[in-house]
Amino acid sequence: MQIIEQTRPDLDKILEKAQQLIQQRLIPLESELMGKSWEEMAPRLAEVRQEARNQGLWVPQMPKEYGGMGLSLIEHAQLMEVLGQAIFGLYVLNCQAPDAGNMEILHEFGTDEQKEKYLLPLIDGQIRSCFSMTEPDYAGSNPIYMGTVATKDGGDYVIDGHKWFTSSADGAAFAIVMCLTDPEGESPYLRASQIIVPLDTPGFEHIRKIPIAGHAGGGWISHSEVKYNACRVPQTNLLGGEGHGFSIAQTRLGPGRIHHCMRWIGICERAFHLMCERAATRELAPGKPLATKQTIQIWIAESRAEINAARLMVMDAARKMAAVGDKAAKVEISVIKFFCANILQKVVDRSIQVHGALGITDDLPLAFWYAHERGARIYDGADEVHKSRVAREILKGYGVRV
Ligand SMILES: Cc1cc2nc3c(=O)[nH]c(=O)nc-3n(C[C@H](O)[C@H](O)[C@H](O)COP(=O)(O)OP(=O)(O)OC[C@H]3O[C@@H](n4cnc5c(N)ncnc54)[C@H](O)[C@@H]3O)c2cc1C
Repeated sequence: MQIIEQTRPDLDKILEKAQQLIQQRLIPLESELMGKSWEEMAPRLAEVRQEARNQGLWVPQMPKEYGGMGLSLIEHAQLMEVLGQAIFGLYVLNCQAPDAGNMEILHEFGTDEQKEKYLLPLIDGQIRSCFSMTEPDYAGSNPIYMGTVATKDGGDYVIDGHKWFTSSADGAAFAIVMCLTDPEGESPYLRASQIIVPLDTPGFEHIRKIPIAGHAGGGWISHSEVKYNACRVPQTNLLGGEGHGFSIAQTRLGPGRIHHCMRWIGICERAFHLMCERAATRELAPGKPLATKQTIQIWIAESRAEINAARLMVMDAARKMAAVGDKAAKVEISVIKFFCANILQKVVDRSIQVHGALGITDDLPLAFWYAHERGARIYDGADEVHKSRVAREILKGYGVRV
């Protein structure tokens, strides 16, 4: 952790408590729980969640009156780096995706009834949720392009559609579903809405947990393929206004990218620490640790520089967002999204290499991150989408519209 940006007097204490929880409780739990089924993990994680909550470490980004810690974007960003170091860090403080983003949009756009029914139990950790936007048959990189339709019938919406990569759908109580409510609308940006669908609604079909990178799709993280077959929900389940689906999604993306990037920096710091520790202790011959090799020294130096740079860039983007809003900070947000996702891949990969065969075992978290965080370059906007947005914005200043 670098110098703390102390925006409130107790922030250093909060970060210290979180660091202790990571070191003393969550890192040791990784070797005990990884590879186990969710049913085996859940009770152990529930114990640590309660411990965290007892220490006041709970839903950091939600206002205090909702039971959260009321951290600002910049404060929360710094906590995310601490939590990112452990696989279970975010879950234990109930600030993991997709619940965290869903809480934010329910808080900002939900009606009193929706807050009571969905937001409060989510904050309390009684239920989980998912966000259902991407579809197998449409390019997710163009979020206004989709096949799921919600048709009005009496006082209800009837939803039909096929989605995938609905993360955490298995076991979730409800989904926030992005669907077209005005498929022929003149503006493509006003055709879609977000609608809350309880997952016990008749017609909701959980097809499968998608196998990812060699694991069967179960366990700690799951991404589901689902169908909405004439799912009928009351019109009161509409979030925000009709046609506001796209603009609501945009509001969740800016802060979400700051959170993701800082979580990745936390992963980088842990991978970096493991790399240095291994380089210092693994001997090629008596008295000749790996650290004596220049290639390894270069990986250490380059990783240090890249992690420092990534953190400074994210904090700079967060400051700009806090000062002038997401729209004015869109270049900075896109820059950190692809930059940090790529630093993450590099640092984890180097750390694996320094560990040799041990690096790809499940005795360390590195192989888990190597497989699961590959998605960082795809979700919340693939690298190429962000790079082209950055270039487009810059080129506008040169009179070119591309
Ligand atoms: C781990 C993970 C978790 C996810 N969780 C969720 C979730 O909870 N809910 C949900 O709805 N979705 C989720 N997604 C889906 C994610 O949002 C999409 O994968 C993403 O939007 C990209 O869409 P796509 O996969 O359809 O790729 P496509 O849109 O088909 O794009 C494929 C590739 O084409 C290239 N490309 C695309 N556009 C451009 C462009 N403009 N310029 C140059 N190249 C381009 C990029 O290389 C891109 O990777 C998740 C994805 C992952 C990997």
